[in-house]
Amino acid sequence: MAGVKTTPEIKEITKIERIGAHSHIRGLGLDDTLEARAVSQGMVGQKDARRAAGVILKMIQAGQIAGRAILLAGQPGTGKTAIAMGMSKALGEETPFAMMAASEIFSLEMSKTEALSQAFRKAIGVRIKEETEIIEGEVVEIEIDRPAATGSAAKTGKVTLKTTEMETIYDLGQKMIESLQKEKVQAGDVIAIDKASGRISKLGRSFARSRDYDAMGPATKFVQCPEGELQKRKEVVHVVTLHEIDVINSRSQGFLALFAGDTGEIRSEVREQIDGKVAEWREEGKADIVPGVLFIDEVHMLDIECFSFLNRALENDLAPIVVVATNRGITKIRGTNYKSPHGIPIDLLDRLLIIQTKPYSEEELRLIIDIRCEEEDVEMSDDAKELLTKIGTETSLRYAMQLITASYLISKRRKVAEVDIEDVSKAYSLFCDVQRSSQFLKEYASDYMFNEIKATGDAQP
Ligand code: ATP
Repeated sequence: MAGVKTTPEIKEITKIERIGAHSHIRGLGLDDTLEARAVSQGMVGQKDARRAAGVILKMIQAGQIAGRAILLAGQPGTGKTAIAMGMSKALGEETPFAMMAASEIFSLEMSKTEALSQAFRKAIGVRIKEETEIIEGEVVEIEIDRPAATGSAAKTGKVTLKTTEMETIYDLGQKMIESLQKEKVQAGDVIAIDKASGRISKLGRSFARSRDYDAMGPATKFVQCPEGELQKRKEVVHVVTLHEIDVINSRSQGFLALFAGDTGEIRSEVREQIDGKVAEWREEGKADIVPGVLFIDEVHMLDIECFSFLNRALENDLAPIVVVATNRGITKIRGTNYKSPHGIPIDLLDRLLIIQTKPYSEEELRLIIDIRCEEEDVEMSDDAKELLTKIGTETSLRYAMQLITASYLISKRRKVAEVDIEDVSKAYSLFCDVQRSSQFLKEYASDYMFNEIKATGDAQP
């Protein structure tokens, strides 16, 4: 696949996750008939929305929904992001899932439409099939301009590899030299060279062929070449996103820009060239498109230009499934003086499949709190959980969830194994929820700078 570079290593680095607000979500918690189980895969309640999301998943998996868009609409803290996360988990590792807050597009580094284009291309995967040849043999001689052990100074060189019946001399590229050095290969070692990637692996001096071959898995098959050279062929399949291919091909530092996140604007000629190449690969059966999901949270933060970009981008053959979420009611469309439901223009709204999320019952709140305590490894008494549930009903689910860690840290000072009711009350008195905080602001309004409470009413929660 000459011309356009791709790299399989990139996927792994994007998968690092920490214990975040949604770490307990492992899927949508649906059964085979797409019914929502009451509590499953970290998901509680919100059955209709989960079932609807499940139907969309099926459409995605059947490849029937590219270019459609879904709106998750509901009050704050009703699980819109959680459902999007659940969809992403249920889609599996291979399906690209890109997540962004709409406000991220207002960056000084690139234009709004460029930021959206990049987000779209992060959500489109290209499954590339490559047949690689691996050549194995014993190293008779290694010759590099400077000794291999001196690391980065080595630039060019050759290795003479003795295979079953012949000697082959390889001129080494930089990548091969790096892996020779990494593996500390010396003459006398048995090595394997992957011809496609140039990667070298050391198989050890006492290379037990049958055992090592077995360990390489069923995708590996061996062929005896006419010349007697022992070769191993395997099909390597990797999924990279269009954005990753764009970045690798658009900057001199190649894929390192992906690590640094410093991708900058990508020229449209580069994208056109890549789209052309991908189309060629598809025709040759070397690649397929894997439409992924682009999740845009707080979609009301997009402005009218972005909405019109979305309208157009959704029509593209290579569009991903776009899931947007908002907690706004009827409000101004950014960049205009017009109001619209959810702050989204009517023509775009008309294209969206809308899924409503609803507030949780007390019982559901309690179950979510149970799950979060478990996720955060916090032992909590039933009484304390009950109090937390009450607090959640009267304030918000988010606030109640924040108090789990706070009350756990408070309980640690008492050197007890379990968080109790007094720790939760202490945390409640130390940290204000939105209502108490705004009440306080109203009482002491005159003591603050730039108080505008009477003029605009902006301080309302
Ligand atoms: P906002 O409109 O403020 O962005 P949201 O609707 O996206 O809110 P989430 O962020 O999904 O709400 O929910 C708040 C917290 O509650 C998150 O930690 C989320 O994982 C958890 N949560 C919400 N709904 C559920 C649910 N049905 N099951 C389990 N956890 C949930």
